Amino acid sequence: MTSPTSRRSAEDDAEVIVVGAGPAGATAAAYLARAGLDVLVLEKSTFPREKVCGDGITPRGVKQLVDLGIDTREEAGWLHNRGLRVVGGGVTLELDWPDLADFPPYGLVRPRHDFDDLLARHAEKAGARIVQHTSVTGALRDDRTGRITGVEAKSGPERTPVTYHAPLVVACDGVSARLALSMGLDKRDDRPMGVAVRRYYDSPRTCDDYLESHLELWDRSHPDEPKLLPGYGWLFGMGDGTVNAGLGILSTSKAYGKTDYRALLRAWLDGTPEEWGFREENANGKVGGAALPMGFNRTPHYRDGLLLVGDAGGMVNPFNGEGIAYAMESARLAAECVVHARARPEGASREQALARYPAAVSEALGGYFRLGNVFSTLIGNPTVMRMATKHGLPRTTLMRFVLKLLANLHDSKGGDVADRVISATTRLTPSA
Ligand SMILES: Cc1cc2nc3c(=O)[nH]c(=O)nc-3n(C[C@H](O)[C@H](O)[C@H](O)COP(=O)(O)OP(=O)(O)OC[C@H]3O[C@@H](n4cnc5c(N)ncnc54)[C@H](O)[C@@H]3O)c2cc1C
Repeated sequence: MTSPTSRRSAEDDAEVIVVGAGPAGATAAAYLARAGLDVLVLEKSTFPREKVCGDGITPRGVKQLVDLGIDTREEAGWLHNRGLRVVGGGVTLELDWPDLADFPPYGLVRPRHDFDDLLARHAEKAGARIVQHTSVTGALRDDRTGRITGVEAKSGPERTPVTYHAPLVVACDGVSARLALSMGLDKRDDRPMGVAVRRYYDSPRTCDDYLESHLELWDRSHPDEPKLLPGYGWLFGMGDGTVNAGLGILSTSKAYGKTDYRALLRAWLDGTPEEWGFREENANGKVGGAALPMGFNRTPHYRDGLLLVGDAGGMVNPFNGEGIAYAMESARLAAECVVHARARPEGASREQALARYPAAVSEALGGYFRLGNVFSTLIGNPTVMRMATKHGLPRTTLMRFVLKLLANLHDSKGGDVADRVISATTRLTPSA
């Protein structure tokens, strides 16, 4: 129903359509609806649903949740952690999340089954309409201008064809990026990709104050020639009797694409102590896996009425494979630009406000992602990787700096020497 004050025109179904209700879509929808826009979210699945993920949230993601008005206390069902435990090079280091003005000092863990449902309900409460079981198949475009005018979709169990119209569409449909592809926005091959797999296990290690990462992943499929892979394994205690165990590998190594990731996960976990429980008989469900689109691997982030947000815009951090925080951060920036655009007269002025979105994500993340793309190329080289684990890991001060860099946790103003070095370097690095 159109409210008396809605700026939606009669032929449209909404002022803005958001495709996908993962962290990117739910966040964008919440901010848009809160600003008074008429928002329609189309989601192919029905909540609650599983999403293959590590379920770990760094303080960068916590900040996004707090900004959105989500209660992140333990009483509200969140499992808190105080830092990262790094295992590799024969050492184990416990690195607390840095003490910063810009970010809270704790991370979180919550199964995506629950997390995504919570965010979607939050968006609904803010006023967004969410239509589930609706799979968007492509863009509707104006023949004359090429501009997006809505989307076509298949709805419900019968996959009934439907169309929805709006002058602006926000693509939050994840790594498949079906909508962007239908507008001719292809993946960039000059940016890294990752692959990650994970499985849940019943384990006595379920309660853990730290997110644990294992930096040495050996491919021993050729026992006489074991290879150190550019990636890491994780063990995230879920606090409910289970652990989310997984690993991620970067596309910058020769092994990428040729590795059996499920077998690699099996081999790595078989090498962990028996009493931790990471064995077949304790597994819950299957191994799930997906690609990680990194370092802005799909651009431009705005064209012809379509904004790309989160994984759809390739916004996974190339340093550590984290994507939730960036999906939420880019969603907020996209929503701000759309709100401003809708407050302007149609035409050049409105386009100017929308063009602000790619500039804003680039300003916020471009320099950092560019560094990450270089980093991913470097660690794709086995010699660099071996040197880094051997000589870097035993040095705690260096590792504290590395944690700030890898998790993108530094104060933008002031802070200590590490903060200033990272801020300056990301500022000086040309945007990705
Ligand atoms: C194994 C693995 C582990 C990971 N671990 C972590 C981690 O611990 N921490 C972290 O921060 N990140 C992690 N990531 C990355 C993180 O999962 C993603 O970056 C994040 O989910 C991106 O959010 P999004 O909203 O952009 O996309 P998604 O979460 O993928 O959401 C997309 C939504 O769009 C819907 N959709 C898709 N296609 C359509 C369509 N055609 N029509 C309608 N709806 C559609 C989907 O059903 C989904 O709800 C991991 C990824 C993998 C694969």
